[in-house]
Amino acid sequence: MKFLSKTSVFHKLESEVRGYCRRFDAVFTTANGSIIRDIDGREYIDFLAACGALNYGHNDPDMAAALVTHITANGIAAGLDLFSAVKAEFLDRFNGLILEPRGLDYRVQFTGPTGTNAVEAAMKLSRKVTGRTNIVAFTNSFHGVSMGALAATGNRHHRMGMLLPGVSRAPYEGYFGPGLDTVGYLDQLLSDPSSGIDLPAAILLETVQGEGGLNVASRSWIQRMAALAKAHGALLIIDDVQAGCGRTGKFFSFEEMEIVPDLVVLSKSISGFGLPMAIVLVKPEFDLWEPAEHNGTFRGNSHAFVTSRVALEKFWCDSRFSRRIADRASIVTTYLRHISNLVPEAGLKGRGMLQGISMGSGDLADKICRLCFKKGLMIETAGAHDEVIKIMAPLTTPVNLLKKGLEILQEATSEVMRRSQPATIDPIHPKGEEGGSLRVPESIPANAAEPGGPLRITASVD
Ligand code: PMP
Repeated sequence: MKFLSKTSVFHKLESEVRGYCRRFDAVFTTANGSIIRDIDGREYIDFLAACGALNYGHNDPDMAAALVTHITANGIAAGLDLFSAVKAEFLDRFNGLILEPRGLDYRVQFTGPTGTNAVEAAMKLSRKVTGRTNIVAFTNSFHGVSMGALAATGNRHHRMGMLLPGVSRAPYEGYFGPGLDTVGYLDQLLSDPSSGIDLPAAILLETVQGEGGLNVASRSWIQRMAALAKAHGALLIIDDVQAGCGRTGKFFSFEEMEIVPDLVVLSKSISGFGLPMAIVLVKPEFDLWEPAEHNGTFRGNSHAFVTSRVALEKFWCDSRFSRRIADRASIVTTYLRHISNLVPEAGLKGRGMLQGISMGSGDLADKICRLCFKKGLMIETAGAHDEVIKIMAPLTTPVNLLKKGLEILQEATSEVMRRSQPATIDPIHPKGEEGGSLRVPESIPANAAEPGGPLRITASVD
């Protein structure tokens, strides 16, 4: 097929609802690792990673090889919820490499293949288990845009049309600043039979609010929230769609918090390869579904089971991958600290490899992201006003490429800030005559986080 012109076919035929392509205006063709290429052969460092669906990068060769072998051997593709050899292998590895070593005992529910499908299944199950309707969800949360999950999503931009009832909003940690104890606040509401908030079937939360601006809940807040759910007879659902699968450092984002959620929702990177797949982990005592009570045609994406099994074997057979993630996360923090010096309003957000920087305004963040793209870096924004630039580099990004990407972000921030500064009159040359200087924010040396020398663009394996 020949494109009419570079993007006119999309402008002519694709719905106005398209989003990411408005900022990243190119036609993409191939990708591997942390590099994505467009139709003109331009390469971009990918800090978007399909919004967290590509934690292991594009086209991992081992997953690709296993998938090709499966397909060429006429392996099952669409499997409904039939038993299949590849599903058995996935379940076996998931149990052996993820659940058992962490002392977790969960049943795995396969849902329709998107995050929002799995969130809806978890909400529905918690309602069935408790006989209650209400779900507590938090300010700035994002749980998907299908009607059930949308009721729990906070952002008004998505919450249009008729919304389903049955969700009460509670403030996330720090929402009112450090002075208000938001767990105590919710406890008070749930303890008071006259508060107007019905006892919930579940408390649904993200440990790091990925779309909501990389707000991080502390360990103690999560622990207290888990205890609160228990005390009020509600299930605790952790939505690990974005923060899970290694994104925040360990396989699950709640691992170091010493809690065991009643239900856990996983999607995005669970297939490892960017293929659609979603699951709900259910404590056995809450697995009260009747056969086929909740269903969906695409619960058996066998291609995803193949790549997911390889991802688990390749990355999660020991703790080395988590250590590599931690190393990369500290590089990101170092760069972000420097970048934050360039912007008066800036603040660091997130944790692990789900970090970012609040630029204080959506307009500024947008300008920086657009300039990054021109310079060969794909990076997106999050937050109520899209004011947070979010770094979602694949967790496998080679260190030099990670630094290169962060360096582009730094350059772009510096350039946008310089352009947006009103010319300050130099007191020595007040009319701006020759020799006068504009004061601009100071930039940091490109290799600030790498005292050893200049950055190379070529990827190295480490
Ligand atoms: N939950 C969280 C935490 C998410 O980040 C997302 C997607 N950004 C979803 C649910 C919805 O996933 P999907 O887009 O696959 O429906």
